[in-house]
Amino acid sequence: MPLKLSDLRPCDCCHAPLISPQIGPIFYVVDVQEAAIKPDAARETLALTAYFNGHLGLAEVMSPQPNAVSLIGDQDPAGKARLLLCRPCYEAAGLHQAAESATAATEGKHHDRNDSDHREGA
Ligand SMILES: [Zn+2]
Repeated sequence: MPLKLSDLRPCDCCHAPLISPQIGPIFYVVDVQEAAIKPDAARETLALTAYFNGHLGLAEVMSPQPNAVSLIGDQDPAGKARLLLCRPCYEAAGLHQAAESATAATEGKHHDRNDSDHREGA
């Protein structure tokens, strides 16, 4: 979703300006969405994972209910939010470390595609 100048507001955490000469021109846009695991679908897919010797990817293809994670914000806009955070608040919340960790995890999944099924099932 694009972001225009007219969409900007003070930091959603500390209510200070998003940027300043002291903290620099960078601020953060964090899209947040509630998610939930559907227990029956997860149980069914995980049982198939065991059947396929830990291959979660294969189990998800074969499962009658492959979508075991529900993104609540897709059905209810109240389950979704776009946060605008200044750099100090972003860093104080540990989100820079979370973003690095998420990037590393995602890159690892893409680079080790052949091994990921074994690890996910373990
Ligand atoms: Zn802030």
